[in-house]
Amino acid sequence: MSQTLVQAWNAAKARLQAAGVDGPVIDARLLVEAAAGASRTDIIADPRRVLTEEQAATLESFIARRERREPVSHILGRKGFWKIMLQVTADVLTPRPDTETLVELVLRELPEAKPFSVLDLGVGSGAILLAILAERPAGKGLGVDVSDEALAVARENAANLGLAGRVALLRGDWTRGLGDASFDLVVANPPYVRSAEIAGLAPEVRDHEPRLALDGGPDGLDAYRELAPEILRVLKPGCPFAVEIGFDQSTEVEALFKAAGAEAVATHKDLANRDRVVAGAKSF
Ligand code: GLN
Repeated sequence: MSQTLVQAWNAAKARLQAAGVDGPVIDARLLVEAAAGASRTDIIADPRRVLTEEQAATLESFIARRERREPVSHILGRKGFWKIMLQVTADVLTPRPDTETLVELVLRELPEAKPFSVLDLGVGSGAILLAILAERPAGKGLGVDVSDEALAVARENAANLGLAGRVALLRGDWTRGLGDASFDLVVANPPYVRSAEIAGLAPEVRDHEPRLALDGGPDGLDAYRELAPEILRVLKPGCPFAVEIGFDQSTEVEALFKAAGAEAVATHKDLANRDRVVAGAKSF
């Protein structure tokens, strides 16, 4: 039976809702748009457009995947973050709006035209690093990740955004091998979920996102313990850092950076008013 855009949207909504998907209205619209090659306005302006058989089959496969709680970003292979569009696979953490808090914070501190070098530890899809460089043409960046698959995604994203010439992407174990006092800014969104809490995460995250990017060890703080002194080592004197944290980790992460000698350590909230970023600077 041939379906119109609006019928397809309604049917998809109902199925996703029944599958327990959070936000079925938006997800249904995104999947219908992608399957039918329709724009956001088409679905409103031309709701009676009929899906071709091929489009209907594509939509069916998209909905079936979403019913199994695969994230929309994996089904579509892309996700918007800050002002850029990123390719996304199951090998990288899907960029989250929470992380835009970190981008906004560091962009506020970075003058438009001044050259700088930024290091992104655990670069994943490249979301943070590329969002920064896309807005600061004088910047250059290094992204490090332990996953070759993630680096391949970041490379593709850098190329798609025309940023490949200003980005180096290297496989590595955090800061190992990087020189002292080398960067004007260090950012990271390390794994910070407590190991025991992973089983209780939403299926989209638990079953479809890389554990490597989520699991922060027994108390969720393993990465920060390792990173705090290392971030201060590779920063130039007087230069800032910003790391994403879990909403209940501010006290512990601030303490780790203070113990490593950081100055002006402070926690910043996300749009939902939860603690989300710890930032500070290396002293002169
Ligand atoms: N914010 C992510 C989540 O709760 C975790 C990201 C991370 O560990 N860096 O799913």
